[in-house]
Amino acid sequence: MTPKKIIGKVEFKENLAGKNWLVRIGFSEEVNFIPGQYSSLKVNEAGLRRSYSVASLPNGKSIDLLVDVSPMGIGSRFILGLKVGDEVEVLGFLGRFTVDSNLLFEAKSILFVATGTGVAPLKTMIEDLLYNKRFAGEVRLVWGMRHEEDLYWLKEMENINRDFDNFRFDLVLSKPKEDWPGFKGHVTDVVRTLSQNWSQTLAYLCGAKEMIIEINKELIAKGVPETQVFYEKYF
Ligand SMILES: Cc1cc2nc3c(=O)[nH]c(=O)nc-3n(C[C@H](O)[C@H](O)[C@H](O)COP(=O)(O)OP(=O)(O)OC[C@H]3O[C@@H](n4cnc5c(N)ncnc54)[C@H](O)[C@@H]3O)c2cc1C
Repeated sequence: MTPKKIIGKVEFKENLAGKNWLVRIGFSEEVNFIPGQYSSLKVNEAGLRRSYSVASLPNGKSIDLLVDVSPMGIGSRFILGLKVGDEVEVLGFLGRFTVDSNLLFEAKSILFVATGTGVAPLKTMIEDLLYNKRFAGEVRLVWGMRHEEDLYWLKEMENINRDFDNFRFDLVLSKPKEDWPGFKGHVTDVVRTLSQNWSQTLAYLCGAKEMIIEINKELIAKGVPETQVFYEKYF
């Protein structure tokens, strides 16, 4: 599918938690993409663009974007300023950070690791694998965030947990309050503790560059073939 410019309209916008916003863009025609792909939004009159992963499954005429506006650059300010009904120019859909169905025959488990809004494409890939493709091996998401007040989509993760025994979800906070009952630290600390059949694991990493470099190293040391590690760097 060749990427093309499409004009959409903001249908819905919600602050999920902290600096994280969900923006739904509707189109007059059906849009098609593969879970994991991203869109490129025109964020100013000069034609500057910013990339945002599609955070929803292909479902007809709309896409959801999950945006952390904390960088507060042009893209963040554009997203913050959007109102329901505003027009948006979207170039879509881009990227090869998708799950190749051919690899699923051999895979025993699939590990997804995200920091922050890097969870956006991973959630759709996980939902596609479990609800649509009925992948029966283990699917695990390790998600790193900073504070409790930034958290969102926990109910959504619980729902996937309820629906699939083969889904595991580890949330890890780097700067929680004293009484945080969950994991404290970084995603690498969690991945380090995992034991599984690493040679038959596929890994999909999304978020900050440092995390991707660290996890990639960790996985290769554990015996995951380099060709089975896929990533999307946000910054
Ligand atoms: C393929 C791809 C998909 C992306 N998908 C998403 C997405 O789904 N949701 C999303 O929120 N962002 C996503 N990003 C990041 C996004 O494109 C922008 O880089 C981000 O919104 C910052 O843009 P800005 O214009 O506000 O800040 P800029 O002026 O471009 O950057 C300001 C500073 O913030 C740093 N920075 C950039 N992104 C982040 C971040 N997420 N957290 C902390 N610091 C950051 C930059 O390195 C820079 O130093 C994606 C990036 C890529 C390459």
